[in-house]
Amino acid sequence: MTSNAPPVDCYTGDPELLPAATALDRVRALASPVADIETVPTARALGRVLADPVVSPLDVPAHTNSAMDGFAVAGTELVTAGERAFEVLGTAWAGRPFETALRPGTAVRIMTGAVMPPGADTVVMQEQTRLEGDRVIIGAGHRVGQNVRLAGEDVRAGRAVLPAGKRLGPAELGLIASLGLAAISARRRLRVATFSTGDELRSVGEPPAPGTVYDSNRYTLLGMLARLDVEHLDLGVIRDRPDELRAALVDAAARSDVVVTSGGASTGEADHVQATLRALGEVGFWRIAIRPGRPLAFGRIGQSLFFGLPGNPVAVMVTFYQFVLPALRVVAGEPWAEPVPALRARCVSRLRKKPGRVEYYRAVLERDEQGMPIVRHTGRTGSGLLHTMSDANCFIVLPEDGADVEPGAEVEVQPFHGLV
Ligand code: AMP
Ligand code: MG
Repeated sequence: MTSNAPPVDCYTGDPELLPAATALDRVRALASPVADIETVPTARALGRVLADPVVSPLDVPAHTNSAMDGFAVAGTELVTAGERAFEVLGTAWAGRPFETALRPGTAVRIMTGAVMPPGADTVVMQEQTRLEGDRVIIGAGHRVGQNVRLAGEDVRAGRAVLPAGKRLGPAELGLIASLGLAAISARRRLRVATFSTGDELRSVGEPPAPGTVYDSNRYTLLGMLARLDVEHLDLGVIRDRPDELRAALVDAAARSDVVVTSGGASTGEADHVQATLRALGEVGFWRIAIRPGRPLAFGRIGQSLFFGLPGNPVAVMVTFYQFVLPALRVVAGEPWAEPVPALRARCVSRLRKKPGRVEYYRAVLERDEQGMPIVRHTGRTGSGLLHTMSDANCFIVLPEDGADVEPGAEVEVQPFHGLV
């Protein structure tokens, strides 16, 4: 990733705007995984991050077995033309092997998953056979070794099947269980403390008053964090007073790995986050060349990473997805991954783009009549309009050096699905 010269903000001429790519580099440089490791039962490991690779103690499948319901035979006995009758010796059930070895001219009825009887290496599907008394008639056209799953074909004993740093989903839980492992070693779940700042904020349940705003950031953060399997410490609302903010930050940092606040991150009279961070710890950056979300404080307080997100609800979600999420993943033990757009699509909207900053438009990704992906802007851009996030299913990401987008042009798209 290149760190260009800081672009100059076109409204204010501010030369201190940090390119988004440089900001991400700084996040990456400061974020490190939690050290604590614990043993977690497989049944409760969904969403946890592996501290060590998972190594298979056995071959999977453990035995060579049938992939079909049918008849197990020695492949060399199959005919290349006409038909052949085989005496049926018995049945091999899944979990109940048939122990007698096949003799020439014999077959064993076999169920899917049953261990192959000694002497058999091929299974003929039931539908391709015909029974005559206690004999089965098998025609030509089969391949030696067909419909058989070989021992160790899926996983070999001693092989690492999952790397350290892998976040476990349903497929991984099944894979771990298929190895007979009742527990795994995981990183401790990270602790994230959040609070909202602003004298105007009211919590749900409180009556509204002139000039007040309900605290929605608390809930978007709660939702985004819940999907990441973190221990969330919700510290509520802190007023715009330096002493209260300072006390809240010290408390939050002492009790968590990452502190995320919203509001008060810019340079107004009532914005104290930046100065407080400077007094308490290290400041990584605090103005980024993006829209929405320009004022964003980042740094460290003691052992905790700190993100001071803007107050505007959409800016909170954008900056969370673009900057906080990659950091949380690293702290949780996952490898660093940039939030890059996943695909390109034809944009049917006209989009304004200022040079020198990355812009994130809320948009809907869908198919046109030909089934091709198209992307449409949700319409309004105000960073306080939270319903535009609800209407959208993706961001259109316009790069720093990009110009206005005319309808029909291709744009980079970052679907929300998979972001959190
Ligand atoms: P600030 O960054 O503190 O200047 O806030 C920018 C805008 O976001 C203001 O209109 C605030 O009222 C609004 N805002 C700040 N925090 C929240 C919050 N927790 N929930 C809803 N709106 C907020
Ligand atoms: Mg404020």
